[in-house]
Amino acid sequence: MRLLTLFFAVSLLMGFATWAFSADTSPHNDQTPTGILDDPCETDTPSLPRHTVVADINYTDKTVSVEQRILYQNTTNSILSDIVLNIESNRWANTFFLKELRIDDDVVASYTLTEKRLTIPLFTPLNKNCRISLLLKFDLHVPQIGGGLITDSKGYLGYTERQMNLAHWLATVAVYHMGQWITQPAFYIGEQEVVAPADWLVTLNLINPPPTLTIAAAGVETNTTPTSKRYEHLNSREFSLSLSHQFNVAYEFLPSGKQIELYTFTDLVSQGNRPVLPEEIVIHALRSATQSFNMFNDLFGTYPYERLLVVQGDFPDGMELSGMVFVGDRWFTRYTGDPRGYLMLITVHEVAHQWWYAQVGNNAALNPWLDEALATYSEYIFIEEYYPDLREWWWEFRVNQYAPEGFVDSTVYDFPNVRAYINAVYLRGVRMLHEIRVKIGKEAFFTLLANYAKAEKGEIAYPQDFWALMSPDQLEQTRDIRKNYLRIP
Ligand SMILES: [Zn+2]
Repeated sequence: MRLLTLFFAVSLLMGFATWAFSADTSPHNDQTPTGILDDPCETDTPSLPRHTVVADINYTDKTVSVEQRILYQNTTNSILSDIVLNIESNRWANTFFLKELRIDDDVVASYTLTEKRLTIPLFTPLNKNCRISLLLKFDLHVPQIGGGLITDSKGYLGYTERQMNLAHWLATVAVYHMGQWITQPAFYIGEQEVVAPADWLVTLNLINPPPTLTIAAAGVETNTTPTSKRYEHLNSREFSLSLSHQFNVAYEFLPSGKQIELYTFTDLVSQGNRPVLPEEIVIHALRSATQSFNMFNDLFGTYPYERLLVVQGDFPDGMELSGMVFVGDRWFTRYTGDPRGYLMLITVHEVAHQWWYAQVGNNAALNPWLDEALATYSEYIFIEEYYPDLREWWWEFRVNQYAPEGFVDSTVYDFPNVRAYINAVYLRGVRMLHEIRVKIGKEAFFTLLANYAKAEKGEIAYPQDFWALMSPDQLEQTRDIRKNYLRIP
């Protein structure tokens, strides 16, 4: 036992040395030695997984060499004999190359890597509240968007001639739920990530960067040289970035001190029927992002980071991340000056995911309605506030024309194609939410959403968590609605 204590004391001290550069601003600071060393596993306060990453990025060669250290504390109620990391990039062939894996200083030879799931047996079982330090060294060969390897809509990890996107590119510690490490198998419809908050301390070294290379990265930039940048993104589900040698950046500085940043391509040209100036496109997108940000901040709770990045993505639709979102290229180029279009709707939708995903997490594969129906309904809330004359247009354009069918509480695996998935989960989802609102009243409905955002902030929410926030009367009132829309009402 004494030997074990010594082992943890040493590993903690090594941890302190390794993570010494991290600032003391973390709300999950694990550097205070008071009381820890005597009984490290019992008296420590729980801390989030801490990822310390050094990534050498070669923008020209489309390769990234990564060294990722993970300090993990067992905050489950189980003694762990293994630990599972999810490696999203390994869903694609010839993309992820693991070179080295260590627990503390010892090489791990007997891991298994199956699609996204990296299972690491532990040398010694990890007791509750005890910590372990993992080291991964790996290379990424970033896949080409439109190159046939990846689905284009997954271009948030991919490159084109003018952009390299690195989202869901680092290992995450799997969520441990009901005695299981959760890995949702990859699928071509929807998302399958299940990610919990962590602290990210990331150094990006740029190898032979083109002179105009710009990095759009979430979090706080703490140090910069021409070829090296360091970021802290604390209490975040992932750390994501996009690089381009053709980025323009537009800023909106808010009275709160926070800022919205919009990254668009320098060759942005309107291709709509009625062409508009690139500046008009930028103004419209930035205004939509800012208005929706302010509105959701008021309705659903304070946005936790200093910056929100909106990035024109060289891939279809959009993608939500923590502190950053992609909005697909074509929504920018098709803007005609008329707000009735997808540039505004998808921008607002992705901003809403900063609450319904980045703050309130969920199992995106099994319970996708929890973030997608709420993000889509948030579009309508935005329209009501800023474009009340477009309310009927929104229902027709976004929902009714598709005559949606299917259960709202379906999984992504239940559908043969994306349209059927969106119809059931997003579109019947917003109909369900709207009927609930009409039934229980507007004020009670918005109170429900605010309470849900507050109660589940930083968590992985499940449908029962949402319904549990309704009063017995409200549940009774909405019984028929839930029966109509849900497989499990
Ligand atoms: Zn969405």
